[in-house]
Amino acid sequence: MDEKIQCAKCPRMLCYPLIAADQEPSFEQAPSFCPTKVKKDVMEEALQEYEREDVREFARLASVQEFECYEHTPDGIRTKIPRIEETIQFAWKNGFHKLGLAFCSGVANEARMITEIFEGKGFEIVSVCCKAGAIPKERIGIKPEEKITGPGFYEAMCNPITQAEILNSEEVDFVILMGLCVGHDSLFIRYCRIPMTVLVVKDRVMGHNPLAAVYLSRSPYYGRLRRGAKE
Ligand code: SF4
Repeated sequence: MDEKIQCAKCPRMLCYPLIAADQEPSFEQAPSFCPTKVKKDVMEEALQEYEREDVREFARLASVQEFECYEHTPDGIRTKIPRIEETIQFAWKNGFHKLGLAFCSGVANEARMITEIFEGKGFEIVSVCCKAGAIPKERIGIKPEEKITGPGFYEAMCNPITQAEILNSEEVDFVILMGLCVGHDSLFIRYCRIPMTVLVVKDRVMGHNPLAAVYLSRSPYYGRLRRGAKE
């Protein structure tokens, strides 16, 4: 059986070398799990996709945008803009005007602020909350004792397929995801047929910054992330 591909365990990252533009990267020293070495056929096939004009242009603009997120200073390369500006600039570059905002009810205030910011920059915003439709959770088999507000309350389910289909039907140019739950976001991504980006990743206890728990996993506070299978 083929060895598992494991870039995350790579000791050298030879695919991102600091060499002169006329030099060729070398993979002689690459680990045996390196996809650049052992997945040449898949890489070649994937590369063909960039030959499609729309894909190539989208990829090119994404890389131009990436470049514009940095600046050269006497102290070296520095980062320049937050992700929301990166998103605005990328949308401008692509000529997107009508944007879809798929947001979680838990970040409704932030969705309003983000709408104001994008509208102030000249975009049209179509926004859909995850609870749209107000369908009770019982519809997907949730038991009364599994409702967050308690068994006695009506609790609308998160409805990512509906969110996606509404934005599909509105024919927005580009979709921005804001704070959908794990799994609900998977369904949204599966059903939305429009190019999308993620502006906000929900993390209920880390101020929507999942990496905070990862950074703290080497401290006693979230050391449990590195212990045992289940705790
Ligand atoms: S592609 Fe190869 S060199 Fe690059 S990170 Fe993965 S294993 Fe390392």
